[in-house]
Amino acid sequence: MSNTERPATVFLEKGQGVILPTKEYSIPDIDISLQPIRSFKDLFRLKALTRIIRSPIVKNIFAARVFNLRSIESLKNARRSLEDVYYRDYETSIIHIDDMHSVNVDLSYEIRELKKDTYYLEHGEDCFINYISKLYNKFDQHVAKGLEFLDGLHFNCFITDRDGTTNNYCGHYRSSIQPVYNAVFLSRFASLCTEHPIFITSAPLKNFGIIDVSVNPDNVFIYAGSKGREFLDLDLCEHRAFIDPLKQVKLEELTRRVSELEKKPELEKFFYVGSGFQLKFGQLTIARQDVANSVPEEESVALLGNVTNIVHEIDPGGAVFKIIDTGKDIEIILTVDGDNGAKDFDKGDGLKFIDSCIDLHLGEGPHLVCGDTVSDIPMLEAVLEYTDDVYAIFVTRDTDLAKKVAHLCPNTLIVPSPDILLTILGVAALSTKRKKGCKAPGVFL
Ligand SMILES: [Mg+2]
Repeated sequence: MSNTERPATVFLEKGQGVILPTKEYSIPDIDISLQPIRSFKDLFRLKALTRIIRSPIVKNIFAARVFNLRSIESLKNARRSLEDVYYRDYETSIIHIDDMHSVNVDLSYEIRELKKDTYYLEHGEDCFINYISKLYNKFDQHVAKGLEFLDGLHFNCFITDRDGTTNNYCGHYRSSIQPVYNAVFLSRFASLCTEHPIFITSAPLKNFGIIDVSVNPDNVFIYAGSKGREFLDLDLCEHRAFIDPLKQVKLEELTRRVSELEKKPELEKFFYVGSGFQLKFGQLTIARQDVANSVPEEESVALLGNVTNIVHEIDPGGAVFKIIDTGKDIEIILTVDGDNGAKDFDKGDGLKFIDSCIDLHLGEGPHLVCGDTVSDIPMLEAVLEYTDDVYAIFVTRDTDLAKKVAHLCPNTLIVPSPDILLTILGVAALSTKRKKGCKAPGVFL
């Protein structure tokens, strides 16, 4: 093999190929050419390809390596392919489930986030912040207030939800790949300003879960799925909370029964829209609506009725399952013992489980908790059991929720969108001096 033919990550040493440690930084030369998107399978395959490109881009940025600009062209082509479906037939953006069935889709998340990423990579961070500042009202005021709120603090725990908090809501979980700018802002803050950064999401951990949609560098965040019932620590070791085997059998029966609904033509769309069908550890979720409200209300309510009936047939006394209907998703969660009998496992229980496995020193603040819905409040309540030195940033336009959070935690900031939260965190980290401590390998900051 001549020197010009060898792969970029292989050196020749005495005639032998030596693989360099830079291999993991190489961005695969995937040519995402313009392609038709006609099915969910096409959509999810295309979005998975963007993750394969985005992930090493982030890795290179954090290792202070300049990356190959060709990869930006692939991201642009991914966007153009999606625009082709979305804008050409704007009134009826159709994705086909099979030859007989199709649903309307909202691809605005996918298109917008790809556009932001290419802008970020081509124009740099200052121009990018200027660009997104035009997308939101009072962006500058919110960011200035946020920087003052964080006040250069170094947090012990940074406990955050993902969807709706650090990530804009996406119509389809499987295609909600984390954008590059998002990962850079978040991981920079996590690495420089916090000791224990933790995502706690109600989505599964893997198959298909939070680790499949994230592009943060490895070993920066602890990822917890199923509300914290399962998590991956910084050594990539997986932990799972105890589940009563008898309850597990009931959950398996429920999974089988709900899965069968996909065979009914009028119900199969629920396996593709919004969160889709997600089998989690100790929990099952099926979407009944997506963020664009593309499912007619009567069909959405009919699914809720169907699922509720199945749950009552398997668990007539209501001791095994709790049903939580968010309006978008039906979550069926295995109960745990609470002070007043059986209760659903919440993100506060998840945080305590994580703390029981890897000591988070919850008594030592300050901590920062970020969320966007009432289901994130238990994380805040759990931390407040250990110390009052807690800060909360909630992403919401719901005044009742905002009041509730502020009542619980005096150090509360409310912001209207994930991008504003990301900008506050990303910019705050720029003015922070690095503390001594173990950081993820390859993280240059
Ligand atoms: Mg959320």
